[in-house]
This record gives sequence, C-alpha cells and structure tokens, in this order.
Amino acid sequence: MPPVPPLGPALCRLADAFLRQTGRNHSTTAAAAGAAVLTGALLLASTGSASAQTIAPTTPGSSAFTAPHGAAPASALVQVAGPSPYTLPSEQLSAQESVAIAANLFTEQAAAAAVSADQAAAPAAEPAPEPAAAPEPAPEPAPAPAPAPAPAPAPAPAWSAPVPGAPTSNPYGVRNPHYAAGYHTGVDFAIPTGTPLLAVGNATVVSAGWAGAYGKEVVLRLPDGRFAQYAHMSTLSVSAGQKVAAGQQIGRSGTTGNSTGPHLHFEIRSANQYGAVINPVSYLAARGVSNF
Ligand SMILES: [Zn+2]
Repeated sequence: MPPVPPLGPALCRLADAFLRQTGRNHSTTAAAAGAAVLTGALLLASTGSASAQTIAPTTPGSSAFTAPHGAAPASALVQVAGPSPYTLPSEQLSAQESVAIAANLFTEQAAAAAVSADQAAAPAAEPAPEPAAAPEPAPEPAPAPAPAPAPAPAPAPAWSAPVPGAPTSNPYGVRNPHYAAGYHTGVDFAIPTGTPLLAVGNATVVSAGWAGAYGKEVVLRLPDGRFAQYAHMSTLSVSAGQKVAAGQQIGRSGTTGNSTGPHLHFEIRSANQYGAVINPVSYLAARGVSNF
C-alpha cells in the first residue's frame, strides 16, 4: 500500500492555505479548528480505500479487531482479547475456523457443531478416526460360580490288607482236630513280632485286650457289619470305641496266647462271636485287597 504521509505537517499546510485564502489572521486557535475539520474530511474521504483497516468493535466493550479489509466478518467470527490456550487440532484449519472453534469451546453443543463444521470445511482431511466403540454395558454380575470342588485328596483306601505283602502261612478252613472249631477259623500271616498291623477297613474298635487263647486281641466292626479279629498281638495301640480308618495301625504282631510262634491270626466274622467266621482272604479279595 502507498505510504501515508505524516498527517500533522500536511494538516498544517492545508490550514495555512485555508487561512491565506480567507485572509484572516493566522492564529493557533483557528488553525486547530481548521485542522480538526480537515481531519474529519480526510477520514471521510479515505473511507472505503485500501488504507483503512480499522473495524469498529461489533460488540460493546470488546476490543478492536483488525483484519484484512476484504475479509467480511462471518457470523461465526468472534473477537478474542488475548491468546487462547487452545491448540489447533489440525494445521489445515484456517485462522477463522480456529477462532470459531475457540468460541465454541464453551458448550458441548457448540463444540459438536464446530467438529461438524471442521469436517465440512476440510473434506480432504484424513477421515476422522472412528469413534471408539461405546463401552458395552457392564453385564450383570454373574452369580459367583460354584466353588470348584476341591481337588479330592488322595482317597483313603477303603480297604487294606492287615499286613500288606505278608505271606500267609496257614490258610483259612484247614481242618485240624486241635482247633476248637475243628478247622482253622482264620488265616495266619508269618510275620516277625512287632510288625505293624493295619485296620482292613474304616471301622470302630469293638475290643482291644486279652482274649484267652487269642492272646492280645483287637476286634473291629467294619462298615458292612462284619468284624475283623487280630490275635496273638504283642502291642495294642487302639482302645474300644475308637474310630479307625482303613490302613491305620492298630498295634503290632506277636505270639501271645495259644501260639507256637510269631504270626498274625486274622479272622473275618459275620458276628462277634467265636466260630461265626467267613473266609478272610475271599472277603478281602472281594474288596480289592490281595497284596498278601
Ligand atoms: Zn491262626
């Protein structure tokens, strides 16, 4: 644009010429009055020229806003008084668009409108990333799953041999006139004195004590109502009424009572009385016990 000459000297020259034409005395008061009139004329004459860049504030109390003359204020254009902390979301936005966004930051609705305007104003911009999928509504808390069954402990043996692995020395039922019943009412295991003797099943101790010809004896009541008898023992480690589990030690073997040597005389009885016996080997074998 052409340089604007200093206004003061020009006005003085114009005032001097005016005064010379009118022939009036040169006085500072008159010169000032004339300068004021001429200044208004100059401003009026320059309105609409390229050199006028000052636009009056559009809102009372707001600051003056300068812009290129050709930029007509848009409806969304507002005037800002100072720098905004807002940073441009995109370098492709024009200054006016940025101002519009800043103005619309105050309400969510306006912000949404600004985003729409941005998208409309910059169709070549990269497509906006897809909005994150709305979080799915939290599912109703599922009922606490039933606690997983605790890992079953090593199942206690339901049945056990009275002396696992011990050899039998005299089978059940062998006829012998020296036995009171005329036959062998139990099975004998040849084991040294002091060998641990185990309950053959989960049982209740019926008796634990001296039993005449059987020496030190333990009788157990088994779950099926049968009875297990251990004779000629050296040590008793249970007492009447006690609960024992299959495989639990009930005492140690010996040769007490009517015995000719260390061994275990073992009976299975259908009733807790002498002679009401069944084959202990068959009984245990039917329950999976055959390790003797
Ligand atoms: Zn025997």
